[in-house]
Amino acid sequence: MLFGCIEGGGTKMVLALMDDERRVVKREVIPTAFPGETLPKMLDFFRGESISALGIAFFGPLGLDPESADHGHVLATPKPGWEGTDVLGFFRRGLNVPCGIDTDVNAAALGEARYGASRGAGVSVYVTVGTGIGGGVTVGGKALHGGAHPEWGHIPLRVHPEDPMPEGVCPFHRGCLEGLASGPAIEKRWGIPAAMLPGDHIAWKLESDYLAQMCTHALMLLSAQRIVLGGGVMHREELLPMVRERTKEYLGGYLRSPNALDLEKTIVRPELFPLSGLYGAYILAKNALEET
Ligand code: ADP
Ligand code: ZN
Repeated sequence: MLFGCIEGGGTKMVLALMDDERRVVKREVIPTAFPGETLPKMLDFFRGESISALGIAFFGPLGLDPESADHGHVLATPKPGWEGTDVLGFFRRGLNVPCGIDTDVNAAALGEARYGASRGAGVSVYVTVGTGIGGGVTVGGKALHGGAHPEWGHIPLRVHPEDPMPEGVCPFHRGCLEGLASGPAIEKRWGIPAAMLPGDHIAWKLESDYLAQMCTHALMLLSAQRIVLGGGVMHREELLPMVRERTKEYLGGYLRSPNALDLEKTIVRPELFPLSGLYGAYILAKNALEET
């Protein structure tokens, strides 16, 4: 049996066919242009491959309420041309197989929860710190949705007193997580790409403070048992230990549960990089097939 898997990002679309054993048997990457051009190319990849189901892990925000008319549509994205696009409907009509959709980060959270760093964690969070910041949540192996999906990147934070750019770069909010701590925020604040900043630069003190506030929310609000931090900015080796250290300070010795006491085990890197999202799409495809 073959499953179609899509990891759809703002810059590229990763397309794959995976077999029952979770092996990638065919893969292609195409740039994300306008939907009228990109979606038909994606469809061509899957057509004629006799897939049993399709899983779509896609950049958000997405409508994810199955009862709503905007289910599977891209909502208010700044990505030109994509707002209002019915991604789920396009593939359902084009392939005529069961299709499941979720955000790229919910999918990555699902992938890590089933096969990777969050195995065994009843509540897990996956956060990508890259061009944007997004986070997905799993509870008991299922992605958390509520009205749509968590918007982890846009929680307001307490701005660090030494931050020369307290407003951040988000067009919607002043001082939200993505606006303060994404790769472009770091670059705008210091005038140098994040990857080129020296390890002892104050940028990392600010960055670890912001990410630690986020981890503290995950621990306080959700009692998360695993917080997986991925994305390009986390390639900076020194950052993760600094985030754990600062999180411990924010917790102030208040939480006594094992997840809060052992942050080395709780705040971790992805195990499935760079396939967390694609494995999540595989789970979405399998779930879609089971639900038919
Ligand atoms: P995207 O979010 O677009 O999918 P990435 O997760 O790779 O892509 O994140 C890209 C961001 O990560 C860029 O803003 C870049 O500056 C930053 N980045 C990449 N490598 C590093 C590094 N070694 N240290 C810090 N930041 C990095
Ligand atoms: Zn915001």
